[in-house]
Amino acid sequence: MMIRIALQSKGRLNEDSLALLAEAGIGIEPSKRKLLSRSDDFPIEILYLRDDDIPHAVERGVADIGIVGLNEYEERQCGAAIVHRLGFGKCRLSLAIPKGESYAGPAYFAGKRIATSYPVILRKFLTEKQIEAEIEEIAGSVEIAPAVGLADAIFDIVSSGGTLVSNGLKEVETAMHSEAVLIATPGLAAEKQALLDQLLFRIESVERSRGKKYILMNIPTDRIPEAAAILPGVKSPTILPLAEAGWSSMHAVVDERALWQKIERLKAIGAEDILVLALEKMIL
Ligand code: ATP
Ligand code: MG
Repeated sequence: MMIRIALQSKGRLNEDSLALLAEAGIGIEPSKRKLLSRSDDFPIEILYLRDDDIPHAVERGVADIGIVGLNEYEERQCGAAIVHRLGFGKCRLSLAIPKGESYAGPAYFAGKRIATSYPVILRKFLTEKQIEAEIEEIAGSVEIAPAVGLADAIFDIVSSGGTLVSNGLKEVETAMHSEAVLIATPGLAAEKQALLDQLLFRIESVERSRGKKYILMNIPTDRIPEAAAILPGVKSPTILPLAEAGWSSMHAVVDERALWQKIERLKAIGAEDILVLALEKMIL
């Protein structure tokens, strides 16, 4: 028994998808990247597709699961189920207009022509705002449409906004926020569902450890209650006696964002020999 996952063959989501699998202990040798490849580490088969084709491939069971942008998933209106949001490939779908135009609200778009590769999502947005506009569907190079007279405005993927600026456009409305999602064929066979559950368990362990560090230090034993209040750890910090009387070693998992501020407070109560280590996986 084997589960088949559809990944983008190249493009923005390819590397991060493979990196996530690698972190979950599923290596795929680059040299083995054909259209269909296997891992030696997990009963999984990788099917490389254009991202446009992934939602339907998963809906129809050509692949059991897949990784695709939420934007692509929504646009295809497919029957595959979202099983997990993956947090990479973040972008938004926005309306943009020539930067010289004045803009007072969505009514601006009434009667305008909008170029996009996402007609379904755009239509839904316009309907919600009760705006009648013309949608010009084009497959690529959407951002030059206004400059060449193909449209008055565009509806496209934005991340930093740099592409808009370099094409003389400004972002005026955001219709959706997107990120990569793991999708699955509805009603997977029990054995495949079990493999998907194993994969999800690994992915969640990887995610839990993101932004976390492992910290250890020596601390006077009588300061442990104060130190434990600064570093609550997962259940509670680990305390080990040192050979030297009156001293203990304390270990805990700590959020990276709070790290330096906590280190200052720990030093202030007598912590010494502080080590901060990378945390690879958190299995709870
Ligand atoms: P394909 O050849 O597979 O059809 P594509 O050109 O349609 O690829 P990409 O540009 O590789 O698609 O983008 C794939 C997905 O990555 C998008 O659907 C979106 O979810 C996400 N994405 C696109 N642009 C960005 C960006 N600038 N930053 C982050 N994520 C992005
Ligand atoms: Mg595509």
